[in-house]
Amino acid sequence: MKPKTHMPKVTLVGAGPGDPELLTLKAVKAIQNASVLLVDDLVHPDVLQHASPTARIIHVGKRGGCQSTPQAFIEKLMAQEALAGENVVRLKGGDPLIFGRAGEEKQHLQALGIEVDVVNGITAGLAAAHGLGVALTHRAHAHGVVLITGHASPERTPTALPAVDWAQLARTAHDCRLTLVIYMGVQTASHLQQGLLQGLPHDTPVAVVENASLPVQRHVSTQLSQLSTVFALEKIASPAIIIVGDVLLGLQKLSAANAPAAALGG
Ligand code: SAH
Repeated sequence: MKPKTHMPKVTLVGAGPGDPELLTLKAVKAIQNASVLLVDDLVHPDVLQHASPTARIIHVGKRGGCQSTPQAFIEKLMAQEALAGENVVRLKGGDPLIFGRAGEEKQHLQALGIEVDVVNGITAGLAAAHGLGVALTHRAHAHGVVLITGHASPERTPTALPAVDWAQLARTAHDCRLTLVIYMGVQTASHLQQGLLQGLPHDTPVAVVENASLPVQRHVSTQLSQLSTVFALEKIASPAIIIVGDVLLGLQKLSAANAPAAALGG
């Protein structure tokens, strides 16, 4: 018999950056108790080993050639299953509250009288820093961190924010000594490089980490003026995180021993 919840409830669960061992105990418990799981495409398949054999698993990601399931449809499906008494878990890559649309999903479900719980996950930016062996807030170099999207086209809705002013951000990062951690920047690397160069020195250290926390993880380190050249040369693909700032200085020195412009590491 399927476990039923007493009141309609959806749990938005962070599955972490990739490595299934980075799941929290809370995430594992929520996955075990789920009767329906809606799974995003960056969630590692091994995470689903914790699911009950009777659970229904619905993939809603856009990889593997399929179009991304429209957000409105996912929200409708979650609500429908929860109202039918299913214990619904929505599994998302990283942390659901960082570029994970958890905020809007929560609002939508709560408006329908559905209880929403959120389980944190380790966000990709932190896994990327770990992969490089750098401290994002090393106190000799940075006062803080900005997690920012490099996504090109903000939605054209009345409530949508204007596009990021990369030049302005660069000046602020420079003056306030902030490390930039850029998500979804693969397609727009050249555009954001041009903007950032207006406020940061051309030799500002930059690193890109592809597939952070997974066995196929690789990284490249370079300087800001070389970013798009290195992207093309190394055929950097999504998912990748770009880190910009002096916290990478030690890394760049190490890399320079191997190759002048860029260094690739597993
Ligand atoms: N909620 C997620 C982010 C979703 S946005 C989180 O907290 O991590 C998707 C973006 O996250 C990707 O375009 C990429 O920039 C980044 N990302 C996700 N997993 C990654 C990984 N394993 N390695 C590098 N970047 C990753």
